[in-house]
Amino acid sequence: MDKLDDIVRTGGCQCGAIRFRANGLRDNPHLCHCRMCQKAYGNFFAALVGVFWDDFEWTCGEPAAFESSQGIKRGFCQMCGTPLFFLREGGEHISLSIGAFDDPASIPLAFELSMESKLPQMSRLSELPNFGTTEDDDPEGAALARATSRQHPDHDC
Ligand SMILES: [Zn+2]
Ligand SMILES: [Zn+2]
Repeated sequence: MDKLDDIVRTGGCQCGAIRFRANGLRDNPHLCHCRMCQKAYGNFFAALVGVFWDDFEWTCGEPAAFESSQGIKRGFCQMCGTPLFFLREGGEHISLSIGAFDDPASIPLAFELSMESKLPQMSRLSELPNFGTTEDDDPEGAALARATSRQHPDHDC
């Protein structure tokens, strides 16, 4: 694998206790549909991208980790629970949660993995009725969430 780019990106958990910086990504941004990723993320899949260790640093705090199988660690913020990384001990990169980056829209997906566990709901996303945005449907609720948000960067470490 090579590098996708040399763009400096930052990210972290929802509460801001854990922050990281990545100086360029590997060329493997992907979705993993395996059952372990579904459980670890509490979701349909994990969206991950590798960053070489030389290009990576935790800039605030240290995540906790769960060893989900031998030599495999899955990291998360102990304060807010955000899933942050997947890594193979002795590997040359850390895989970070794409959704934890401050600008996840800047990371194009390259492929998906573990198709045997891909949930059937995934193939029907485009058929779901569109209920619009919270901002349109519930402006008071959206304003309250904004005014009382404990999400980074409203609260930094
Ligand atoms: Zn946190
Ligand atoms: Zn997986």
